[in-house]
Amino acid sequence: MNAFEVVPGDPSSSVLLHVPHSSRSIPDDVRAVIVLDDDALAAELDAMTDAFTDRLAERAAALSGCRPWLFANRRSRLVVDPERFPDDREEMNAVGMGAVYTRTSGGAVLRDPAPDLIDRFFEPYAAALTELVQERLDSTGAATILDVHSFPVTPLPYELRADGPRPELCLGTDVTHTPSALIDAARQHLAPVTPTGDVGLDSPFGGTYVPLRHYGTDTRVRSLMLEVRRDLLSHSPRVADDAGIDRLATGVAALVDHLQEIA
Ligand SMILES: [Zn+2]
Repeated sequence: MNAFEVVPGDPSSSVLLHVPHSSRSIPDDVRAVIVLDDDALAAELDAMTDAFTDRLAERAAALSGCRPWLFANRRSRLVVDPERFPDDREEMNAVGMGAVYTRTSGGAVLRDPAPDLIDRFFEPYAAALTELVQERLDSTGAATILDVHSFPVTPLPYELRADGPRPELCLGTDVTHTPSALIDAARQHLAPVTPTGDVGLDSPFGGTYVPLRHYGTDTRVRSLMLEVRRDLLSHSPRVADDAGIDRLATGVAALVDHLQEIA
């Protein structure tokens, strides 16, 4: 299996669904230097994996009138976390959960620092995603990234803002790359597909992915993080709620088509 997968969308689509955290796959040699036993590793994957967000994005892509591009990480975030800054800018370094995690979500030792994983996994992933965004820009004049995640109902010990609200859907924003029209469109299309219309901003997680080449400078790249509370997608960490996923996917597909029209 490749470390990541690009599923092409319509040539005219400027929308890209990014799914960084849905996989539980860890290559054998990377597993070998993780110090957890198999049960503890399974529990950590249960805690940290955004299970079924790939299925949500794939279903939404299939339902969209103008098919968006899909970029999915096919490795676990315990290999590398492609959403972290690979350097000192990353605030999660403080809890051992920068681009290469050295701690678990509960604060236990996960592995020794492994900078080789940046070269092997982080850099090729970032380069490929940057190229895909650049291609969309070059061929359509715009690129809108929907960064698809999930978060647990109750906070994990590593969370830096665990006291904040945990709405059914959290929209993560960036001051430069998330125009208010994008937030408004997401509310319009996604509130109706959540159980009670409970949509919040930047809590419990904030921010959204933008390639470093475009970050802070190229406002043609727009981005919004969709953080779904996990009880909307699954019955338990390894059991999907297919009806819940389908319901959300109809909203994401409507949002994709709306964004394509206003791009
Ligand atoms: Zn995530």
